[in-house]
Amino acid sequence: MQKNSVYDLDQALELRRMEPASRKQRQLLFLRDHITRTLCIPFYRELYGKNGITATSMADLNGLADLPFTTREDIDAAPALFGLNDERQIRDIALTSGTTGEPVIVPYTQEDLQRLAFNEAVAFYSAGVRKGDRVLLTVTLDRCFIAGLAYYAGVTSLGGTAIRSGPGQVARQWYLIEKLRPKVILGVPSFLLELGRWGQDNGYNVAASSVTTVITIGEPMRKPDFSLTESGRQLENIWGGRVHVSYGATEFETAFGECSAAAGGHVHPELMLVEIVDEDDNILPEGKPGEIVVTPLGVRGFPLVRFKTGDIGRLHSGICSCGWSTERLGPTEGRLAQRLKYKGTTFYPEAVFYALQDFTQITAAYIEVRSITEGTDDITVIVGCDDAQVNEETVVAKLQAHIRVRPEVVIKSSAEVDSVMRGDGGRKPKKFFDFRK
Ligand SMILES: [Zn+2]
Repeated sequence: MQKNSVYDLDQALELRRMEPASRKQRQLLFLRDHITRTLCIPFYRELYGKNGITATSMADLNGLADLPFTTREDIDAAPALFGLNDERQIRDIALTSGTTGEPVIVPYTQEDLQRLAFNEAVAFYSAGVRKGDRVLLTVTLDRCFIAGLAYYAGVTSLGGTAIRSGPGQVARQWYLIEKLRPKVILGVPSFLLELGRWGQDNGYNVAASSVTTVITIGEPMRKPDFSLTESGRQLENIWGGRVHVSYGATEFETAFGECSAAAGGHVHPELMLVEIVDEDDNILPEGKPGEIVVTPLGVRGFPLVRFKTGDIGRLHSGICSCGWSTERLGPTEGRLAQRLKYKGTTFYPEAVFYALQDFTQITAAYIEVRSITEGTDDITVIVGCDDAQVNEETVVAKLQAHIRVRPEVVIKSSAEVDSVMRGDGGRKPKKFFDFRK
């Protein structure tokens, strides 16, 4: 990291311990710079020109709420209007995973790569990673995937050592853990669980290994009250280390990582403004769940303003026990598009999957939803289980106890459920089948 730039660790720590009102003054300058930069992007040039919006239109940060939202549909409808169209400035091209349609092309400039490294360096720092620490990266750095590159750049710019083991190859991973003794392991939770169990089955003392910090990516491991899901608890038990959950997306080029307090991911004040909005686009107060809207500050190659992520979460403020006064984004609670309605209550599929994690015999599950009337969805939970002791009624009782709903439950063989979930050949097994109109 360059000294005296905004992406400097010492300056970053100062900004995070600052009194919030003073910090907001700084952030207003970051936001104005950001708005000026978006004028290089055809979508924003036209949108802001039409609405008379300029960088100085905003007297304070509250002015952000007057700007129009950007949606995933805006990007999908006219991808050519987004992204910097200047080859001389582009250093890397990332692609979104394309789980909802065509992958989006996200160009990175040199400054964006620096910003990315800084983001992860500060996140690692907040999770207790320091200079000289070794980090085993079990995520891929290739295939136009940005997160692996971001973690690598973060570790090295912080002064740590990256071990780029990549995904899979459990025996090789254990060889590296024994030989190179990393303090931190980073990966997708399901893989880290598999790796831990394989280690136990093959004579390794996993909980006493060099690994004391487990950083997860991709799947939520905490509930809205910050408690770990059953999978999260298993991860901590197996590895005998602390789990830190991270959340991010390729489109907004920013990740939120948990600090030692594990009470949400700190919002990086020089990199991000976060709002939470309800269905009518009203900004919600602290602690209320709604759609996460992000304005990733300082991005040059693919700048966005008020991007509606489609994810549900809540913001928390107040001084964190780690000493930072920045807001924290709680665990993601589901996808807005997957919200389910059941007899006057609403919930997300994640709540069902968390409840099912209590059954160790259940190997996989997915949800099918069909609309019957305006207000209530017809929900079926299909569970993969080869143990006759688990029946439909015990599963329904568990769901009733956890989330107070009694959807129809169908038990099938593990192999059958697994084959349906992997049927479309996507990167991740499909867990939600929506037949609602
Ligand atoms: Zn904290």
